[in-house]
Amino acid sequence: MNTLKEFEVWFVTGSQHLYGPETLKQVDADSKQIAEALDVSADIPCKVVFKPVLKSPEEITNICIEANTTPNCIGLITWMHTFSPAKMWIAGLSLLQKPFVHLHTQFNRDIPWAEIDMDFMNLNQSAHGGREFGFICSRLRKNRKVVVGHWQEADVQQRLGVWMRAAVGLNEMKNMKVCRFGDNMREVAVTEGDKVEAQKQFGMSINGYGVGDLVAVIKKVTDAQIDKIVAEYKEDYQFKVSDNNMDLIRESARIECGMRTFLEEGGFKAFTTTFEDLHGILQLPGLAVQRLMAEGYGFGAEGDWKTAALVRAMKVMATGLEGGTSFMEDYTYHLDPAGAKVLGAHMLEVCPSIADGKPSLEVHPLGIGGKDDPVRVVFNTAAGDGLNASLVDMGNRFRMIVHTCDVVKPDADLPKLPVARVCWVPKPDIKVGVSAWILAGGAHHTAFSMALTAEHMEDFTEMTGIEYLPINENTTIPEFKKDIRTNEVYYMLAKALT
Ligand code: MN
Repeated sequence: MNTLKEFEVWFVTGSQHLYGPETLKQVDADSKQIAEALDVSADIPCKVVFKPVLKSPEEITNICIEANTTPNCIGLITWMHTFSPAKMWIAGLSLLQKPFVHLHTQFNRDIPWAEIDMDFMNLNQSAHGGREFGFICSRLRKNRKVVVGHWQEADVQQRLGVWMRAAVGLNEMKNMKVCRFGDNMREVAVTEGDKVEAQKQFGMSINGYGVGDLVAVIKKVTDAQIDKIVAEYKEDYQFKVSDNNMDLIRESARIECGMRTFLEEGGFKAFTTTFEDLHGILQLPGLAVQRLMAEGYGFGAEGDWKTAALVRAMKVMATGLEGGTSFMEDYTYHLDPAGAKVLGAHMLEVCPSIADGKPSLEVHPLGIGGKDDPVRVVFNTAAGDGLNASLVDMGNRFRMIVHTCDVVKPDADLPKLPVARVCWVPKPDIKVGVSAWILAGGAHHTAFSMALTAEHMEDFTEMTGIEYLPINENTTIPEFKKDIRTNEVYYMLAKALT
């Protein structure tokens, strides 16, 4: 997927009949102009579709029903050009199942001080019209983003663009099928969770498949299919493999081809594996998983379906943006106070979308799993802004923890470390940041991204209705503990509010 233009966001303007046909004609024309400007903005990833101005409860209700039943409509931009008495919105908003953003803007940026008269005042009423709309959204306990500022301002368009990417992520999760090859790693807690509740909350379905079913597909892979993939290996990576290991390379290609076929045939967009259940697979799928992730599949190791789904949703959200997104694990620390950092990696499965330069294809033994030496690509990650996101099941709710970090270069070469890796310094620093993460119950597995920002994740979390705990440059432990405690009470009571 190279573009998000297949998804529509409807530009919906609220008004009322009170103003008469002349004013309403002007409202319609102004709305159309804004919608068209947003549609062609480089900061807006989706198609923005103008809808005629809404003047009655019936029109509002109908547009909400139409949005619900239009598959490629991923949400609404709502704008009150004039005053739209908000009891008219109760039925529609109550039915609306798509996310919406409240754009609190005004057609004219400036007050024409010398010319302003009551006609101007009556046409440009967003300042109070938007408040009336805001009240009913709050009264109905509707989660939404509010973007304030002139519609031509870059910041306004960027924030709408961020919200749209989150809405695309939500749409992806609603329709996602997650395939689990084998079950959870035995006795591991955080990768477990309530799959029924997850389907209720996010829409995705999560189902298990016998590894034997996958092996049957792997066995059908032909030599010609293997040749083609091996040729891609030589093209895509620095190919540092001795002739003795070519059988292992071909086996890796066979596993990759079989997995891809299985996922394509089942319509899966995310998957999990576990090294404890590889019966009939000759090596732990390393490069196969890396390449499937690079193609856009979500992945979670050791049966981690929550992270697999999150990686997929975030990859789709990041479509067309600079920087990659990968499954990740906080692996090892460098605790020198002069330059403390985390080294993130996994046994093998890190996505080459975050690679700095051309990855190196290598074969090395692996102590875990008791299989043949697995094939993998090895690389470092370039410095920049990053984040780790973790989705955990708290028993009575899902919690999203989003921790921003500075991605840094390793202090030195790592000639003996045969896995892809990335180093980062958690915000606000390693002691406060990691303390907060651990207090929040954040997993060791994460979805790591250098393409998305905390704002994308906040918008996404808001739309799903789950708990959001950011850790950033402003985090302090006493405040963070307070947030955890208040959230505990809030989520217990929140169900009674709606
Ligand atoms: Mn792991």
